[in-house]
Amino acid sequence: MSDNGRKVIELPAAVTVRQLADLLKASPIDIIKGLMSNGVMATINQQIDYDAAAIVISEMGYDAQPIAVIEEEKEEEKVSTAEWRKLIEHESEEDLILRPPVVTILGHVDHGKTSLLDAIRHTDVAAGEAGGITQHIGAYQIIRNQRSITFLDTPGHEAFTAMRARGAQATDIAVLVVAADDGVMPQTREAAAHAKAARVPIIVALNKIDKANASPDRVKQQLTDIQLTPDEWGGDTMVVPVSAKKKEGIDDLLEAILLTADDLKMKANPKTAAAGTVVEAQLEKAKGVMATLLVQNGTLHTGDVIIAGMVSGRIRRMFNDHGGVVEEAPPSTPVSVLGLSDVPVAGDIFRVVESDREARTLVAERKLATKEAEAKPAQAMTLEQVFEKFKAGEMKELALVIKADVQGSLEPLTNSLKKLSTDDIKVNILYGEIGNITENDVMLATASKAIIVGFAVQADAAATRLAEKNGVSIRLYDVIYRLTEDVEKALKGMLEPEYEEVLIGKAEVRLVIRIPKIGNIAGAYVRDGELKRNATVRVMRGGQKLFEGKLSSLKHVKDDVREVKQGFECGIGVDGFESFRTGDLIEFYVKQRKEVE
Ligand code: GDP
Repeated sequence: MSDNGRKVIELPAAVTVRQLADLLKASPIDIIKGLMSNGVMATINQQIDYDAAAIVISEMGYDAQPIAVIEEEKEEEKVSTAEWRKLIEHESEEDLILRPPVVTILGHVDHGKTSLLDAIRHTDVAAGEAGGITQHIGAYQIIRNQRSITFLDTPGHEAFTAMRARGAQATDIAVLVVAADDGVMPQTREAAAHAKAARVPIIVALNKIDKANASPDRVKQQLTDIQLTPDEWGGDTMVVPVSAKKKEGIDDLLEAILLTADDLKMKANPKTAAAGTVVEAQLEKAKGVMATLLVQNGTLHTGDVIIAGMVSGRIRRMFNDHGGVVEEAPPSTPVSVLGLSDVPVAGDIFRVVESDREARTLVAERKLATKEAEAKPAQAMTLEQVFEKFKAGEMKELALVIKADVQGSLEPLTNSLKKLSTDDIKVNILYGEIGNITENDVMLATASKAIIVGFAVQADAAATRLAEKNGVSIRLYDVIYRLTEDVEKALKGMLEPEYEEVLIGKAEVRLVIRIPKIGNIAGAYVRDGELKRNATVRVMRGGQKLFEGKLSSLKHVKDDVREVKQGFECGIGVDGFESFRTGDLIEFYVKQRKEVE
């Protein structure tokens, strides 16, 4: 306490708005407003000096006192930031301008994602004035405080992650909708994990605050439990109470989005050829292919030739989200375009090219590359490759998606896996949840190059199919220590590749041939598959295995051969076994590296 009875807050010489808010257990928005009324404009991560902070502190009823400078935390760069940086890395700094943020709405079913998107859309005064009817094109833009915000209109983490799995990084900020009556639900946790895996900052919209049974504090506690601690509780997640139904709190939410955007400082060069992401596309009867594109860098013009995945075309007409014809679309603008030759896939990256000819050549090249890639099985990453990839500098962390049967096994599993992190490789648990492995898990693993480990669970059929297609490795275990042991070995480069025995051919013994000094060999007929010299063999009689061992000889007529195909006869000698009988089956096995479990 100071002499005047007010509480004393110890302040460093410089402090960020966020740190000051944490110190005072106040909302950063209130601090920013306090600073503004004293003529200081600051964003949430901006440092303000002692004097400015002291004035705000005093207005809030405390006294300030200086302390030594506190170390500023160094945050890992957000991937969303890294991704758009990559897009603009060849641009020179003077060409870059700030671009509007692109926001995706995530959350559990029925918590109000669609209602919130509608409520936000209705705040757009400009749309009302222009008398424009909003068209559903998969994205829309609103203006608030003379600044634009773009919203992707397909809510849900399935769409978000599916786009990411195709290589798109269209979202800058995720708004996680949580109903204040229902609280954090399974899909809330899943959505939060998907956004975190993409390293996209999350703002929580605490919706349905109008309901009598809303219990915001309970929900804030639940958010804290999933590492989304509200800023007013000392964490760094902005939690904004809203009612999509009554259209309350929407302004605060938009303000929170703009604050986060100030933090991220997304930039783009409006003067260059456009590039971005396909948001959605369909074939329309009368008009042809209609595709919604989100421009992320450059400016898109009518007449530009673009290539998007395997599709190309010259843009004939371009419409904004109110259905109006536009000639150009600057960064962060969604537009629907006519003129593509075929329907591109949502999540494909598009870019402007010089000419139709260049577009056609590029598409042909891509088609060829895809054919070659399809001929080889897709291969994202396996546990055995972790160390190799780490040594080659291709990865710094092992990303895991964990599914377990019950909470009682999930927790110890997650804890022991986290402890396996070394100074060099970190174990990053993207998502740990109870239940079987689903397509969503596989999608997340695809987008984040993760491995899925399951304890006492199964992968459902659709998940297995998608994992095979995308080359995602799923490892199933029934004993916890085996699972942790495998991961530990993988991190140390000691995990032997797993092999499985595959039956390649079967021969039936037709006669037993006695060869002096050598012993009995089987005169056999290949019933199925193919026999190979380097295989291991099993001699089967009446469905029982009599012997397992190596081949001593494989002959066709009189020649030693390396393989014998179905329908041919051959002589088979087995090392250490000669008591063949007519009718015995000899099975041939080879060991193959297990690709996807
Ligand atoms: P989504 O599945 O997340 O897209 O949820 P919807 O937007 O379809 O909303 C689900 C239900 O919750 C609908 O019946 C909405 O009318 C209702 N709802 C959405 N927001 C609010 C709100 O703020 N307050 C109340 N009372 N109901 C809401």
